[in-house]
Parts: sequence; structure tokens; C-alpha cells
Amino acid sequence: MNDRPNSLHALDRQSLVHPYTNLAVHQEVGPHVITGGEGIYVVDDQGKRYIEGLAGLFCAGLGFSEPRLVEAATRQLKTMPFYHSFAHKSTEPGIRLAEKLLEMAPVPMSKVFFAGSGSEANDTAIKLVWYYNNAVGRPEKKKIISRRKAYHGVTVATASLTGLPFNHRDFDLPIANILHTDCPHYWRFAEPGESEEDFATRLVSNLEAMILEEGPETVAAFFAEPVMVSGGVITPPKTYFEKLQAVLKKYDILLVADEVICGFGRTGNMFGSETYGLKPDMISCAKQLSAAYMPISALMINETISDVLLDQSRKIGTFSHGFTYGGHPVAAAVALEALTIYQEVDIVSHVRAVGPRFQEGIRKLGEHPLIGEARGVGLVAGLEFVKDKVTKENFPPAWQVANHAGKFATERGVLTRGLGDMVSLCPAMIISENEIDDLMARMQLALDDTLSWAR
Ligand code: PLP
Repeated sequence: MNDRPNSLHALDRQSLVHPYTNLAVHQEVGPHVITGGEGIYVVDDQGKRYIEGLAGLFCAGLGFSEPRLVEAATRQLKTMPFYHSFAHKSTEPGIRLAEKLLEMAPVPMSKVFFAGSGSEANDTAIKLVWYYNNAVGRPEKKKIISRRKAYHGVTVATASLTGLPFNHRDFDLPIANILHTDCPHYWRFAEPGESEEDFATRLVSNLEAMILEEGPETVAAFFAEPVMVSGGVITPPKTYFEKLQAVLKKYDILLVADEVICGFGRTGNMFGSETYGLKPDMISCAKQLSAAYMPISALMINETISDVLLDQSRKIGTFSHGFTYGGHPVAAAVALEALTIYQEVDIVSHVRAVGPRFQEGIRKLGEHPLIGEARGVGLVAGLEFVKDKVTKENFPPAWQVANHAGKFATERGVLTRGLGDMVSLCPAMIISENEIDDLMARMQLALDDTLSWAR
């Protein structure tokens, strides 16, 4: 029935290129059309209801039916549906949102630059790192380091920073001057008997060796997600960021915190930087900034960088960077309302209250024969599939075990995605304890289904 000519399914196959999708398989299976949502749930065009196990793409923190966000958008659409902020123009939602972000920032920040997506915010951060070092007379200090398995976006530069092979393969990436250092995944990469602290020391001394080999005068910045969510929900080992930041400081290397997923409550603090003690020079955020109801991202910059931008404008005559939709007033109005709701409902306390139940549930799923490690913090978690719990050997990639688990989860009424060896969970932050129990029960069934299939 779905294949009728001119059905949505047929039209989708004929006309859309889907991001992060096997396009050949898509021609066979067609789209899964989502038509509505309520709270932590979404509904598809067959009327089936699912717990959105990833809050969309780690972003719809207030669920799928928050009326205040709809009202904020409608109000702004009626008052002024679009205006830009090029050449001294401004709109009230953008001004108020910038002020609020600076008030909430985990470390003192001086200014905010708006863009439309996480990739654009990070791409802007890369450009500012280069611009800054040119301005202060260090044109050779340009290399940027990120980590293997990092995810920072998909533009030419941010996909280069992303440390996942498929983001580079056949795209002619990474570009020059991008370096990747160790992924800080203790369970997977620690040596036998190595403590978390020793593992952190080893990784940071590898980083220092890389900086020395490249020449500290050529290394400009380090990008880090507080928790590497897309790369497999990798939480940092104890003492890692403390040691890492000491090395960055020693060689005058800027730290950019990518808070695109961690920002606004997800880890049990307003920012992941607070959870793990990061003191960044710039912070990028997006996704939960507007609870995903409108596309908007922000890059916060500290006073040193902001002062250099001002000096450059005096010299060059302009700051020649900006996106047509950066600080879009409707998106900014929605984001401002989302931040107000986070504060009014005290979303951080809610995540801290229900987070332990969620993490206990995840750890329990970790006892399943297919799961090697269950990990996470706050309301984000991941399950890593292994063929052998003792040797931690993964399944052969061709089996696509996590992908199958994702499909079984869908059948059991949970939308999540299996990526590589991982299935992640990151529900809307408004989730209740009962809903967490329901989510875990359904995931248990999906894991059992996967086990029957694998045998
Ligand atoms: N940074 C992180 C940590 C992300 O998880 C993502 C997207 O998942 C991005 C950047 C890119 O954001 P966007 O998809 O909005 O460009």
C-alpha cells in the first residue's frame, strides 16, 4: 500500500537524499514517516507510538509537544518573522538570548555569535582560531587537534575534526592541519591493570608528545565534547580533562568545548563542562538550545578572543563572517523560551533526580549476554555489543548487530539507532521514572530478540 504511485513513501524514494542513511537500502525499505509527537513519544503514519529513545537526534529535550515553544514561535512569527543581524541590524530575541547565554555560561564568556547548526558553530570556532592567531602575529599556529571518535559536524572543516572514518572516506577529508589524538575510552583502550588515572596520564602524555613533535608553535586549538556521544557515549576517565588542560595551557593552545549535545542539562549540570571541569575559551552549543523546535546554534567566546575580533575590525574594517539565518528571530525566541523553561522547571534537578534510575536501568541491561559495556551519565547512555564479554571482541561488522538491535527496538516501540557496535539512549529530559522503567523493559525485550536472531 505504501508503494502506491504518489504515496509519500514513493515520493520520498524518488526525491530525497537522506542524511546518514544507506541510500541503496533506502530504495528498498523506504522511509519511516513520523507524523506527530506527545511528551517523550512520537507517532508514525501507521498510528504506532514510540518512545523517542534519542529525543530525535539528542536534541528534543522538552519532548515533542511543549506548547510554550509553539507560542513563542507563533508570537515572533506574527511580530517579525525574519530579520538578520548583518551590518549593525539586530532583533530583540537575539539580543536577549545572547544575554541569557552569557549569564548561564559555565565559565566567564564575553560574546555570542549565532548560527544555524552545530556544524556551523564549530566551523565558526575553527575560523576564529585561525583569525585570532593571525591577528596576534602567530600565523604558523594553526593546527587543530580533536580525538578519534569525536563528532564535531559535517562541513569540510568540522567533518575533518570529526574522528570517524566514514565521515572522511571518499570525501577527501580530513583537510590539512587537523590532527587526531587518542579516544579516551577507558574500558576499550586501557591496558591490563591500568587505572583510570594512569590511562588518563598516558593519553595526555601521548597528546603532549604529538604537540612537541608537531611543534607547539604550530598547534592552535583542541576541540572536545565533554562526553563523546555520537562516537559511542564515551565519558572521560577520571583526571583526564584536568591533565589535558594543564598541557594545553603549557603550550598556549585554546580549548573549544563542543556542548552541542551535552549543553542544557543532559549530563546533570547545565553544561557538560561543569560536570567534567572544562574551562574552555569558546563553547559551541545547538540542539537543546532551542529544544530542537527551531534550528539555531551559538558560539560563545571569551574576552581575549572577543577583544582580538574588535581590534581586527578596527584594522580590517569589518568582521566578514556570518550566516543569513544566524540569530533568526523566530529561532532565537524559541531558544529563549526553552532556556526559560529549563530554569523554571529546574531541568538540571530533574535530570539529577531521574538520572540514577536511568543509569541503573542501563547498567542492568549491561548484564545482558550481548552487552560488553553499559555506560553513560545523566540522561545519556550507550550499550556496546560484544561477541565475547571476556575478550571484549566485537561482532563482525557485516553482522550489523547494533543495527539489528535498533530494528528490534523499533518493533518493541523504542526509536533508537544502532551505530557500529553501539545502541544509544538519550530520551527527552522530561522523562519520568515510570517512563524510564518502560523504556528499559522494552530495551530488554529488544536485546532478547537480538540474541535470538544472533544465535
Ligand atoms: N557537535 C556534536 C557534539 C554533535 O553531536 C553534533 C551533531 O550531532 C554536531 C556537532 C553537529 O551539529 P549539526 O548536526 O547541528 O550540524
